[in-house]
Amino acid sequence: MTSSLLDRRFRLNSASNISVSFEFFPPKNERMEEQLWSSIKRLEPLGPAFVSVTYGAGGSTRERTHSTVSRIVNETSLKPAAHLTCVDATKEEVDDVVRSYWDAGVRHIVALRGDPAAGVGAQYIPPENGYQSTADLVASIKRIGDFEVSVSAYPERHPESRSWDVELDVLKAKVDAGATRAITQFFFDNSDYLRYVERVQAAGINIPIIPGIVPVLSFKGIAGFARKTGASVPNWLARRFEGLDDDPRTRELVAAAVAAEQVLDLVDQGIDEFHFYTMNKADLVYAICHMLGLREKTPAISA
Ligand code: FAD
Repeated sequence: MTSSLLDRRFRLNSASNISVSFEFFPPKNERMEEQLWSSIKRLEPLGPAFVSVTYGAGGSTRERTHSTVSRIVNETSLKPAAHLTCVDATKEEVDDVVRSYWDAGVRHIVALRGDPAAGVGAQYIPPENGYQSTADLVASIKRIGDFEVSVSAYPERHPESRSWDVELDVLKAKVDAGATRAITQFFFDNSDYLRYVERVQAAGINIPIIPGIVPVLSFKGIAGFARKTGASVPNWLARRFEGLDDDPRTRELVAAAVAAEQVLDLVDQGIDEFHFYTMNKADLVYAICHMLGLREKTPAISA
């Protein structure tokens, strides 16, 4: 047995070292609401460090994000983090949302610039009377309340990125403004993430860079999303899902194997914090967390 496998087993036996967080999106209708809450209730007993709720493009889910995080505060033991973007909004509008989160008992915000209304890749024009950059948004959130602020990071660079220097300067500005954690865009090649963390550290940026892990519940869906976000989809991944379009059962098993392989390899590299893009579905993420050694801390409550 290789020493890295022995190391992994040792790390996973002392599972208290592993910390996870889960990302959800606000539901659009009653059926999606039921699915979201059954997933939250299933994952809650695993004791995540926090759970985050996304904010639709241009604030399109403003009310739904707010009501979801409020319900998490009121009805669960979880610590919610509310995503917030500043695209297409005045400072006053954004600040109102920040204050409403504070009033609802939310103490953690994932601060983002957001994508232009014309879509990913369209030129970003800072709104008149709005925040000029994510760093400005972070600074303002910190002035409004003693929030914990997380931000984004891009192991394969953001699609708009001009160079690694600019990429790292943007991250540094967000950290200097008060961000204390970065969550990465999803990636499939762990070496991209590990090289990125090295670059970040070499640039003197000293915050945790949490790997964002996406279970491939739909290969087509993920491949399409990856094209927009600048994440690459390796050929080996396409090959694993080849011919499975009409075979959801096998697809699910392959997705579990792919995600477990990725996460356990990162454990081998000494990584012990993970952020899961759940897509509001719990089973696969629950299984991966189980493999990471996590066990229920509180009894599961059926939704
Ligand atoms: P920033 O980090 O501010 O900038 C992104 C990149 O743009 C930089 O890395 C740099 O390459 C370039 N750039 C920025 N400023 C400059 C500059 N002044 N000069 C040159 N280049 C510059 N979107 C949503 O709408 N809602 C969400 O809830 C949401 N959640 C997300 C969560 C995570 C973990 C991640 C990784 C992304 C999320 N996004 C979300 C997507 C995000 O809004 C888009 O990727 C958007 O295009 C960039 O926002 P940002 O905060 O990452 O931008």
